[in-house]
Amino acid sequence: MPIKEACGLLGIYSSQPDESIARTVYYGLFALQHRGQESAGIAVSDTRSIKYHKGIGLVSEIFSEEDLEDLKGKMAIGHVRYSTTGSNCLSNAQPLVVKYHSGELAIAHNGNLVNAYELRNDLEENGAMFHTTTDSEVIAALIARSRKSLIEAVIECMEKIRGAYSLLLMSKDKLIAIRDSNGFRPLCIGSYNGSYVVASENVAFDTIGAEFLRDIEPGEIVVFDENGISSHKVITSRKSLCVFEFVYFARPDSVIDKVSVYQTRWKAGAILAREHPVDADLVVAVPDSGNVAAIGFSDTSHIPMGMGLIKNRYIGRTFIQPSQRIRNLGVRLKLNPLKDLINGKRIVLVDDSIVRGTTMGQIVKMLKDSGAKQVHVRISSPPITHSCYFGIDTSTRRELIASCHDVESIRKLLDADSLGYLSIDGLIESIDMKEKDLCIACFTGEYPMQIPREGRKYLFEKR
Ligand code: AMP
Repeated sequence: MPIKEACGLLGIYSSQPDESIARTVYYGLFALQHRGQESAGIAVSDTRSIKYHKGIGLVSEIFSEEDLEDLKGKMAIGHVRYSTTGSNCLSNAQPLVVKYHSGELAIAHNGNLVNAYELRNDLEENGAMFHTTTDSEVIAALIARSRKSLIEAVIECMEKIRGAYSLLLMSKDKLIAIRDSNGFRPLCIGSYNGSYVVASENVAFDTIGAEFLRDIEPGEIVVFDENGISSHKVITSRKSLCVFEFVYFARPDSVIDKVSVYQTRWKAGAILAREHPVDADLVVAVPDSGNVAAIGFSDTSHIPMGMGLIKNRYIGRTFIQPSQRIRNLGVRLKLNPLKDLINGKRIVLVDDSIVRGTTMGQIVKMLKDSGAKQVHVRISSPPITHSCYFGIDTSTRRELIASCHDVESIRKLLDADSLGYLSIDGLIESIDMKEKDLCIACFTGEYPMQIPREGRKYLFEKR
């Protein structure tokens, strides 16, 4: 299986009943589409009951005018999904809607739990029935089965679950936003027209015309209800924001925990140019993932940058292709080299990361077939040597090319003239944040908490 990325969340608590609340969530999810392209959904509460619509595919494919018209209310939560636990099927799409002692509860989750298997076993032994194969339903079940008040149930649940979770919960009269105590995944609050908005990334606020208020703190529970906004901080632990949000996940126009993603990527490219200088004629980015780092590399090395690879903007991810043969074709469908620009030149090819090595090998070949004299690959993050258990579906370590090859063997496999990765120190320097506040386990294998055995994405399907 390919690696995949975390999900996206958007919630709105409106001061007044809002006829167009679902449409606003829809536009917000559109801005977060890069965080998940497998399925999407919106749930709305009119303070009496919860209605929802969800489906498989892109946001633009799932919701018709009628679907959005039908979802009226005072609060809403939305989700775009890329699976990390559980396959891509409609029953696994979110928000999940479950019953609890005071009515219905909708839940949307970004992240991945490391103890979902054990918790689900316990719950099943105590009579719980599960309808999905996701770890998110374990969270929903823990909260829904509690006899306590919703906030107490949430706190109790947070004491049991371990791993990455940014969460939105919606009961008939409350919207609750939660960020796990490590703060693995981002979550922030904005406001517009007297309403509150919560989103995975602040770019969603720009799209819907909301103003950024603040990031939600690791371990914080923020409640929006008729009394306004209140905050509870219950569990604290070492912060470990996912470094890959800066490397690849987040949009460059987002700011996470006060750090600009664009600045980070530019700096990573600049430091990469200092760490791995090369005599060349043209810097070419792998669009779009390498764009910003390539600008930083070009600005620092004074090697001009050109659009040597043109991306077909209508193509989805090569990542969703099932077989290696189709995946290989996928890169050609997505990228086309600009032969006139490349012919006879020594190229510096910049991308953000190499995962399995499929993409980069093919791009190097494309450039050479287009007449490039030399291709020097520069990667604006260190070699990925370890799987992620906190929201990136890297499946097994075996699939990661850098887990079993050193840099020189990877260079040979890519058929590149040289290969340079950003160092771990260089990556940390590029992010204006303390190293101790970041999870860099995919580059070091030093996980911020105990991890389960490998390859457990389909663990609930196998039962
Ligand atoms: P690979 O062919 O497996 O080496 O994939 C590397 C390409 O995938 C690079 O262009 C990255 O920008 C991109 N990439 C990195 N992380 C992810 C991810 N989590 N999901 C999808 N694509 C990714």
